[in-house]
Amino acid sequence: MSSSLAQSAIAKLKEAGLGDVLHVPGEQAYQAKEASLIPLSQKLGPWAIVQPRNTEEVSKAVKALVSTEGLQFAVRSGGHMWVDNSNNIKEGVTIDLTLMTKRTYDPKTKLVSLEPGSRWKDVYRELVDQGLLVVGGREAEVGVGGFLIGGGLSFFNSSKGWSCDTIVNFEVVLADGSIVQANKTTNPDLFLALKGGSANFGIVTRFDMESMESKNIWCGTAAYPKSATGQLVDAYVDFTNNLSHTPDDYVFLYAFRGAKEEDYAISLNFSNMNGVANPEPLRGLLEIPNPISKPEDFKVKTLYTKLTDYAVPSANYTNWEAITVQVDASVTNKAFAEFDILIEKLRKAIPDNDFIARIVVQPILKSWADISASKGGNVLGIENLPGDCLNILVGVEVPSLELREQVGRPAVKALLNTVKSFAKSINKDADWLYLNYCTDGQEPFATYGAENVKKLKAAAAKYDPNRVFQERVPGGFKISKAQ
Ligand SMILES: Cc1cc2nc3c(=O)[nH]c(=O)nc-3n(C[C@H](O)[C@H](O)[C@H](O)COP(=O)(O)OP(=O)(O)OC[C@H]3O[C@@H](n4cnc5c(N)ncnc54)[C@H](O)[C@@H]3O)c2cc1C
Repeated sequence: MSSSLAQSAIAKLKEAGLGDVLHVPGEQAYQAKEASLIPLSQKLGPWAIVQPRNTEEVSKAVKALVSTEGLQFAVRSGGHMWVDNSNNIKEGVTIDLTLMTKRTYDPKTKLVSLEPGSRWKDVYRELVDQGLLVVGGREAEVGVGGFLIGGGLSFFNSSKGWSCDTIVNFEVVLADGSIVQANKTTNPDLFLALKGGSANFGIVTRFDMESMESKNIWCGTAAYPKSATGQLVDAYVDFTNNLSHTPDDYVFLYAFRGAKEEDYAISLNFSNMNGVANPEPLRGLLEIPNPISKPEDFKVKTLYTKLTDYAVPSANYTNWEAITVQVDASVTNKAFAEFDILIEKLRKAIPDNDFIARIVVQPILKSWADISASKGGNVLGIENLPGDCLNILVGVEVPSLELREQVGRPAVKALLNTVKSFAKSINKDADWLYLNYCTDGQEPFATYGAENVKKLKAAAAKYDPNRVFQERVPGGFKISKAQ
């Protein structure tokens, strides 16, 4: 690192009074931050990392970086987005928001205010202690910032809509450093755009969210051998077809193939968000015989303990990618058959059989759009879905970046392309991609509908007329690329 651009950005950040939260290569704080990044491929070694402590410091950092002509920068909250360069930058400066973790509750408005740098486990720990919850993430370490501006798949989607639908106000630092509020009366076009429009408009420094009472959750996992796949898929499709009538139930269907293991095991992860044990709508799934493992009694937990019991390990190079299809047993079975083929392919190509593969099936219900509409809408466009859908998310973990690029990523892409073609051939496709589950090369905004793309482009042009978040912040999904 010694380009004059880097030196000049660093000098401006210091002039702005940010010297004590500015870290450069070689410093312990810099090394620790880079080492903590979850997708290993995001360890890019930026010229500097600046860690604002509050909104005013974010504003100062943005002004300093934007005024350094030609400089590019990245923005990071939890750092969990797996898209390359989305939350870090090799030749530029990274604004890291992980010191901004303030979480407050106003009993008068019943709103919870979250700064973007918290992890969901920390949010829930504090809220549950106060008897409260918000519609947030399902994995302990995922960050608040990126999750919420991408939409937010939570355990409460069927009763509360997308996580972003429960936000009533965003505080945002725009590209000129100004600090604005976005809600249904102030900057309503920005308010709408931030509900799913991701990192195209400014840096969100506070989310004001509706709260709800914290309840205990009944939950547990049952694992089955691969041979039970067809039975599980049939029962899961029945369950999903009724889910809009039983919104407190939640079930993931997923398969996991651990490193060096012969075959995958297929599992059902059950939850009832009201703490009801063995709810009737889950009977078909709960009664599937001959599990490999199934606890006698599932546990009742808080959302905090549920999250801390389950964190996705991340010691390797990962690639995740997803598509959406209509709820259909033959398409879902096809996905698992192709998952088997993917495992075989990777077994031949990865030395020592050292890879992990996962496939996760979860609902995306068209009826969530009605809940969103009742809250003022968002830009995700699921009202255009052909019906209730399933999201099929596939991930592989391999020991090196080369293996991810040469073997892992192409294998996942081939699987999803085959499933999509099959779904299309029987009219069960759905042309929709969830931004937070997309990978490099996918274009989620193009699937959100022409009206939403128009609104997003208009908001980007109005609030960021100099295209800073399109061109000077190169990471993440850009609305300017959507056709
Ligand atoms: C293990 C795992 C589990 C997951 N589980 C779920 C799940 O249950 N539901 C779900 O919906 N998604 C899930 N995701 C996807 C997750 O929501 C996205 O990766 C999300 O972007 C992560 O948020 P983050 O703050 O950690 O992201 P980051 O990587 O920090 O940010 C993501 C993007 O948003 C931008 N950004 C971040 N903060 C701000 C801000 N404050 N203002 C403006 N732009 C910002 C970044 O520049 C980047 O482009 C999961 C991901 C992983 C790896």
